[in-house]
Amino acid sequence: MNLVLMGLPGAGKGTQAERIVESYEIPHISTGDMFRAAIKEETELGLQAKSFMDKGELVPDEVTIGIVRERLGKNDCEKGFLLDGFPRTVAQADALEGILEDLDKKIDYVINIDVNKDILMDRLTGRRICKQCGSTYHLVFNPPAVDGVCDKCGGELYQRADDNEETVANRLEVNLKQTEPLLSFYREKGYLKNINGEQDIHKVFEDVKKLLEGLSE
Ligand SMILES: [Zn+2]
Repeated sequence: MNLVLMGLPGAGKGTQAERIVESYEIPHISTGDMFRAAIKEETELGLQAKSFMDKGELVPDEVTIGIVRERLGKNDCEKGFLLDGFPRTVAQADALEGILEDLDKKIDYVINIDVNKDILMDRLTGRRICKQCGSTYHLVFNPPAVDGVCDKCGGELYQRADDNEETVANRLEVNLKQTEPLLSFYREKGYLKNINGEQDIHKVFEDVKKLLEGLSE
């Protein structure tokens, strides 16, 4: 079961990733984890990646792709894997095709947790934090009893600068621009499966399970 998981910020990708790897016992391969492991093991590529990160520079594609190649070649990927956060670009997706071909594997599905942009805006801008005690609320998922007031201590609730409409809209725009060519690439290959991420998270996972039912181990 070789999967790539995609979804914009706020789509609930993290939750679905957790459930997939738990249910199907395949490794969750996120870019961050992969880099950390390669650096810790001091592989040649890990050390190269570190030298760029230490300078605050982006890790070049060839290094990232090399790390993905090493990771996917490990024994725990025999039953499959869930790639999360890679590929980010069509060039990386192309490279991934080559890596998998060399390893005699192929992607079964690219699962895209699909959520409308307006709903993502609501989800991502709804967080409120208490000025006094730091308790967090969400206007949609966990609203305070009285608007703008902390249930626990009566303190005033505020919105972090990171969560404001303009910042979030920008972040989504950047992500959308980056994701669209990748979705087209995978749509053309026939791998892309959209899952409706606007439903309750349990229902989203039910749909994921239905999709994966047909895959043999
Ligand atoms: Zn409070």
